[in-house]
Amino acid sequence: MTDLASISPEAFKDFLRDAGIRRFFLVWDEERGEVRASHPRLEPLARLLGEDRRDFDRHEGVFVQVAPETGVLQGAFVHRTCRGQAAGGVRFWRYDTVEEYLRDGLRLARGMTHKNALAGLWWGGGKGVMALGTVPDAADSVVRRRVYEEYGDLMTSLRGCYVTAEDVGTSVEDMAAIFARTRFTTCIPPDLGGSGNPSAPTARGVVRGMEAALHFLELGDLRGKTVAVQGLGHVGEPLVGLLHERGVGRVIGSDIDPGREAALRSRLPGLDLTVRVVERGDNSVLAEEVDIVSPCATGAILGPATIPRIRARIVCGAANNQLEDPEWDDARLLDAGVLYLPDFLVNRMGIVNCADEGSGYVDGDPAFERHLGDGWDNSIYRLSLKVLGDARRTGRTPAREALQLAEERSFERHPIQGHRGVQIIRSLVESGWGRRSDAEAASTPSP
Ligand code: NAD
Repeated sequence: MTDLASISPEAFKDFLRDAGIRRFFLVWDEERGEVRASHPRLEPLARLLGEDRRDFDRHEGVFVQVAPETGVLQGAFVHRTCRGQAAGGVRFWRYDTVEEYLRDGLRLARGMTHKNALAGLWWGGGKGVMALGTVPDAADSVVRRRVYEEYGDLMTSLRGCYVTAEDVGTSVEDMAAIFARTRFTTCIPPDLGGSGNPSAPTARGVVRGMEAALHFLELGDLRGKTVAVQGLGHVGEPLVGLLHERGVGRVIGSDIDPGREAALRSRLPGLDLTVRVVERGDNSVLAEEVDIVSPCATGAILGPATIPRIRARIVCGAANNQLEDPEWDDARLLDAGVLYLPDFLVNRMGIVNCADEGSGYVDGDPAFERHLGDGWDNSIYRLSLKVLGDARRTGRTPAREALQLAEERSFERHPIQGHRGVQIIRSLVESGWGRRSDAEAASTPSP
């Protein structure tokens, strides 16, 4: 029998086609205490999730389709919806195996639960993941638009238990394509009434985290400090600009794309800037002799190979899931004398910027700006100081402290909707989502 977890997403698509499965779900059955698959042939995947001790964490539901026209494997991962509909971006990325695909979705959705809860948003945690290799011509603009429209159709079919947003590999134009097919998306372009690209606000939040860490270590502010930034993309570039405005002494940036340097230099002529063009997987910038290291490229870069080489006192960046092994690497950082502010504490502004865009837009919105100020207990600055203080008192790592707080908050119920996400998922399951065509499901009332 095929080991479904270890085959490629492309081979998995063939398997699904041969089995006559266009859509499937894997949902947590609270009564039986197990993961339920929509189709008996997918039981091995239900077991894989059920036996996972790290990221599955009782995900309320995972919903996957092979897009009818483009054939892309498209998924929605709904972790916990106590605080509201699951919210998080959709990622278009390359995966070698089905297990990698599923694990990435689970890990990212759970991370969104924690990020949204810590930010105090009335949103649950979820993530979208599409497998890049499952469509041969993704670079073609017409195909690409269709891929995202079909993702919008998936959102519509899920009746709002997950509301998508922009993420790695996805642009604002892509979000417009999703929006053409569903109301369950955010990060749509401003000319359609949305909040647009969330990266500049994310950079502002990361700077506030850095300032809290410096204050906590009694190192003053950013003036004259040196900072190494890994990744000079959508977040890294505005981050360097903000650091310049704050008077940092020197920035060392790295990117795999040689084109990034010219863009930065022309924007920031007065900055003492060194840019290193590196190979994919080269993390040497983390070992620079600087005050702060800011990972703003990919995740899983803080581990046994990199941590002993870090010379900075502070690590604070935007990249999601920076720890290679969340069980151990935060303790490794603590032991190495490095103050690590977890990503889900400081990179919240992207989701803060877009999550409530459906509620209207106010210039200089106080509900947004308070996250970046220091007059609100839950601002990035104040919450970072609280987490660091708690960690010092308890001897635990800042990541542990932040995680515990996030977990507690993630179970609070939405003040108006309650735990509606699970009700939506239950109704999807009962109405045969994934087992019948949408037309059939729509015409048959739920039992
Ligand atoms: P991006 O793709 O625009 O930028 C990433 C940059 O990193 C690119 O320029 C890429 O060439 C570079 N890069 C990749 N591998 C590298 C390596 N090994 N060394 C150096 N550079 C490398 O992505 P982004 O939107 O700037 O997001 C950066 C990170 O922050 C991602 O992990 C993302 O998930 C996270 N994040 C982003 C936001 C947001 O608002 N954009 C919000 C929260 C979290």
